[in-house]
Amino acid sequence: MTTNVNIEDLADKSLYCKDCGNKFIWTAGEQKFFLERGLQNMPKRCKICTAKNREKLREKHPLWWIKCRVCGKKNEVPFEPLTEDTLCEECFIKETAKRDQKLADLGEKFDD
Ligand SMILES: [Zn+2]
Ligand SMILES: [Zn+2]
Repeated sequence: MTTNVNIEDLADKSLYCKDCGNKFIWTAGEQKFFLERGLQNMPKRCKICTAKNREKLREKHPLWWIKCRVCGKKNEVPFEPLTEDTLCEECFIKETAKRDQKLADLGEKFDD
């Protein structure tokens, strides 16, 4: 998926849960994760309903299993993995932070 959204410009968004109708926040961090993974279905439910729904789905469809290429941990994900080369959410956040730090370090060098 190609996207014109600049990840740096993301801001928290208010969405309405399709199940309970309550407003919930889709945070910039979650949107970034979503965009960087090329996911296409925006969250439609608040966290509580997502958890409830996941329980329901689990009875019908198993979640997909991924094996994280960094920590080797097996992880259940509610979406079909796009590649074999998958990171668990924890490592994905760490890798992103590391990359951002590298870019920041480079930026400091250029400032000299
Ligand atoms: Zn809800
Ligand atoms: Zn991992």
